[in-house]
Amino acid sequence: MDRFIARRDFLQGTLYAAASTLSGPLLAGVAGAAGAPTPGQDLAGYYPPSLTGLRGSHPGSFEAAHALRDGAAPAAAVPEADSYDLVIVGAGLSGLSAAHFYRSAARPGRILILDNHDDFGGHAKRNEFALHGEVQLVNGGTLDIDSPRPYSAVATGLLRELGVDVPQLSRKVERRHYYEKLGMRRAAFFDAQTFGADKLVTGLGEVPMRTLLRDAPLTAQAREDLARLEDTHTDYLAGLTAAQKKAHLATISYLSFLREHVKLAPDALAYCQTLTHGEWGVGIDAVSALDLWGYGFPGFKGLRLPRGATPLMSPTAAGYHETGGSARLHFPDGNATLARLLVRRLIPGVATGTTAEDVVTARFDYARLDRPDAPVRLRLNSTVVRVRHVGDPASAREVEVTYLRAGRAGSVRARHCVLACWNMMIPYLCPELPAAQRTALHSLVKAPLVYANVGLRHWRSFKSLAVREVYAPGSYFSNLYLNPKVTLAGTVPAAIRTSPPSCAWNAPRASRGCPSTIRTRPGAPSCSRRRSQPSRRRSANSCCAP
Ligand SMILES: Cc1cc2nc3c(=O)[nH]c(=O)nc-3n(C[C@H](O)[C@H](O)[C@H](O)COP(=O)(O)OP(=O)(O)OC[C@H]3O[C@@H](n4cnc5c(N)ncnc54)[C@H](O)[C@@H]3O)c2cc1C
Repeated sequence: MDRFIARRDFLQGTLYAAASTLSGPLLAGVAGAAGAPTPGQDLAGYYPPSLTGLRGSHPGSFEAAHALRDGAAPAAAVPEADSYDLVIVGAGLSGLSAAHFYRSAARPGRILILDNHDDFGGHAKRNEFALHGEVQLVNGGTLDIDSPRPYSAVATGLLRELGVDVPQLSRKVERRHYYEKLGMRRAAFFDAQTFGADKLVTGLGEVPMRTLLRDAPLTAQAREDLARLEDTHTDYLAGLTAAQKKAHLATISYLSFLREHVKLAPDALAYCQTLTHGEWGVGIDAVSALDLWGYGFPGFKGLRLPRGATPLMSPTAAGYHETGGSARLHFPDGNATLARLLVRRLIPGVATGTTAEDVVTARFDYARLDRPDAPVRLRLNSTVVRVRHVGDPASAREVEVTYLRAGRAGSVRARHCVLACWNMMIPYLCPELPAAQRTALHSLVKAPLVYANVGLRHWRSFKSLAVREVYAPGSYFSNLYLNPKVTLAGTVPAAIRTSPPSCAWNAPRASRGCPSTIRTRPGAPSCSRRRSQPSRRRSANSCCAP
């Protein structure tokens, strides 16, 4: 059952859920106008990776977008004198790559990249902790260079250009099984509120469930059921062909499969409910049984399904199932290294160094991101609120991009525009889109997931418990783990160390419900309710670092 906790160990993401409802003119929702000061990226000392508290979609970054969604009209903008060949909305890996590819195609001209966050990278953010006079790095968002299928020619080419040799670097920098060699194991924690007693049991994935759960505060039936689930060879869909079984599993959630077919006891289901949090950000009631068969979750062996993805599977599950995924690499700050590599290439002088290794410790000079004379400018704390053609879309030669920053609306013109921002935001920015496309984009929902990094002064408690990871199905944070040990031998100054000591928790803030055809658990928020209340969608990546 150790594979329960996700192929990619733990994905991390995101959520910052703010309850306020905004109304009135759009500027009223903007940092600066709303009272929250907008930090100036040109000011000395501006260095967002070292900020703690809620990161990612931090206060000040989402208010304008929410106001736009809630019907506020974009404010009259002051046209700026600068014009560009390309304006990119979003400085995540997509937006930064778009700038890279545009320039690689030997297109001359100027590029402006706008992002509403106070740092670049989108989901690929970097957290720095200053502890004991040293800097420690943690991924503030996306963790591994990783893909459900082997890298495409385009992705491979980009990695090569950035100097990232995934297999070679992963062998060099990652210290696999570091904690295991110290005798530290995985554990499950049962909390009193959910299970009746607080109890930590160690050896998850290493000892049989029957042994692991011997002292767990579960009913005898639940312990028996979970042990059975681990080993079962029963065909719970006997009488159906393999194709019919796959088709059926695609229409039910894993929760339904466990409850109605495997017939797990209620407290066994409670134990399983959050197994999918780390990878999907929702509970087992919101992930299809077929996808989890593809991921190797337990309960399916007796169905004797032939290998092979079907169109009924999500692309991610299908990819991992068919190919096992790509080679993987974990930098000390996760995929923020990729964002930093891209920015260093796009804006020479922003940081020292030339290699994928030396960028890890390079200090970026944020004051250089948006220089008037530079061919590529990256402007933070800037929320784009409107993108439209100048004149008739059929013949227009320019687009106008309106954005809000520091309480002021400005507009720039460009020959091209790439919307590398969140898909569900695009219909609000760009009402000119065809209705069918707007409807499709509106249907996308981000799963809320809170990911918290904590710098630890020491990790004695983990060592004395001999625990490196904890699955805690009833707790606010359903997964807790010490970060992977990564060292860049020979290139990392002594002042910079990577984990340990630091650890991360992750938890979906709202674990039930889903936006598509998957059934939800009785009593959970229903899909239709969520869909009919788009104003309730909140998503962002956040990271607390006390
Ligand atoms: C929770 C989670 C965990 C993941 N973990 C991994 C992993 O471990 N390995 C892996 O390979 N992949 C992972 N992924 C996938 C990977 O992180 C993403 O595919 C990738 O980072 C997305 O990059 P992007 O640039 O498309 O989007 P984003 O990173 O979201 O960037 C979009 C940017 O646009 C900004 N923006 C949005 N609207 C506006 C606007 N109106 N004006 C200005 N700016 C705007 C956003 O704030 C953001 O900065 C993960 C994805 C998620 C959701």
